[in-house]
Amino acid sequence: MPLSRNLALFDTTYPTFITLQHPASQTAALACLTSGHTFVGSYYKSQNIPETEYSCPCGVDVQDIPHVFLDCPITAPFKLLLLDDNGDLDTSILFTDKLDSLLEWLKAANTFTKRFGLVTIGTPPPQGSGSLPSPPSPPVLSVVD
Ligand SMILES: [Zn+2]
Repeated sequence: MPLSRNLALFDTTYPTFITLQHPASQTAALACLTSGHTFVGSYYKSQNIPETEYSCPCGVDVQDIPHVFLDCPITAPFKLLLLDDNGDLDTSILFTDKLDSLLEWLKAANTFTKRFGLVTIGTPPPQGSGSLPSPPSPPVLSVVD
């Protein structure tokens, strides 16, 4: 599937939705994501980048951006961050109304980085919103083949 078609699901208008009030690393990550020039198998494949893995660590043959957002079991524990009040993932507002949540999701799951799916160290996935604060937990370490 061509990369431009993959991104058709998302409103990736740039730069109107990204204020430059975010740290440069976040702005850069968003620019890479919206342009499709990011750490994702479909990009590697479209560019014929040698010695890169096109598949997703979860086993999908060609990892693309919609898969990572919508279907990947690796990001599933973090999906709550992206859901709206109705429990739906509205991709049309990820880069606007849900931008802070998107940034948190990108960081929490190492999404669209070289570390994606390899090792996740840090806080456990978020629980439902509105819940009482939970006591501190030991760091979570998970390894995905
Ligand atoms: Zn996957």
